[in-house]
Amino acid sequence: MATIDPELLEILACPVPECRAPLALSDSALLCTGCRRRYRIEQSWPVLIPEEAELPAMPSVGANSAEAGAASKNP
Ligand SMILES: [Zn+2]
Repeated sequence: MATIDPELLEILACPVPECRAPLALSDSALLCTGCRRRYRIEQSWPVLIPEEAELPAMPSVGANSAEAGAASKNP
């Protein structure tokens, strides 16, 4: 069971340049409140590497796509 220092959690932000949203502890991972990526925690240290993050399963795009779209690619 991974835990993380609340003070550390407070200063952490999503490493994705277009995102930079705060992270929230979710189960044994950090969940980005912006792009919804999941960053795993190894030895009490979050692995904040976008390439290593788990992308959320994409639900069918619905009414709240505008919010999620903020973090996704723009042409
Ligand atoms: Zn993010």
